[in-house]
Amino acid sequence: ERAALKAFRTAEPRRADGQLIHIAANLGSLDEIDVALEAGAMGVGLFRTELLFMRHMHLPSEDMQTETYAKLAAAFAPHPVIIRTLDVGGDKPIAGIDFVEEDNPFLGWRGIRMCLDRPDIFKPQLRALLRAAVSGNLKVMLPMVSRIEELRLTRALIDECKAELTQEGHAHSDFELGVMIETPAAVFSAPLLAREAAFFSIGTNDLTQYVMAADRLNPAVAALNDAAHPAVMSAIAQAAAAAREAGIEIGMCGEVAAREDLVPRFLEMGLTELSMSPASILSVKKQVCELLENE
Ligand code: PEP
Ligand code: MG
Repeated sequence: ERAALKAFRTAEPRRADGQLIHIAANLGSLDEIDVALEAGAMGVGLFRTELLFMRHMHLPSEDMQTETYAKLAAAFAPHPVIIRTLDVGGDKPIAGIDFVEEDNPFLGWRGIRMCLDRPDIFKPQLRALLRAAVSGNLKVMLPMVSRIEELRLTRALIDECKAELTQEGHAHSDFELGVMIETPAAVFSAPLLAREAAFFSIGTNDLTQYVMAADRLNPAVAALNDAAHPAVMSAIAQAAAAAREAGIEIGMCGEVAAREDLVPRFLEMGLTELSMSPASILSVKKQVCELLENE
């Protein structure tokens, strides 16, 4: 059976209308590139940059970040590599950032909220992403978005970074800027966000915990953490409808992107990318190829 799965390594599922469905990898470090390529990943749907920041006793330099993002983009070109900007909070502290203790870290100062308050950390990452974008098909997405202003403020910072890089004579290139849909606020304002974001990526791990009001780390409420709950599925469908309406692409990078019982529904909703741990890629690719063949 493994050999039969292997046959799907180079397969590229396409809908009848020609639209490619990207079965992509969720990665946290460069060490996983080979495994992802071996599994037939059609790009990266989520690169978690947290590890880069948590691995060391100091913040990673702009040059070190540039090199990391450029290697990733080059390894998967021409497929897209979506890099998520720093997504840490009080529960995932890192050296160089003072987090005050919060009663509700999952509702607190994290993700894009923290980054916008700390341009000294955010701008070097954005500069590194602009510099790395010359090396492949690099895209960037923002975590924990709940207000359109977060996208606009980030755009303004990117413009500042571009001007600086030009002045300094550093090669750089534009990238598509998308938002993660992982808060109820993002779902309810999806039509507005879709007018300004280049793409959506649904983070079902957080979206589920926020829709169900159930801490994703608390085993006592694990039964509530179910992405198949009608409320979560309806939230996903709403975001997908807003994306379709605005003509932007929508993908998914939460764990359930690989859930065999839900994949057919995600395809029906019009998702064009499912991103998952490399271990799941071949079997989901096979499933998607077979579903699309029978369309
Ligand atoms: C998510 O929330 O679904 C997601 C992909 O991001 P993370 O698991 O890193 O919060
Ligand atoms: Mg998340």
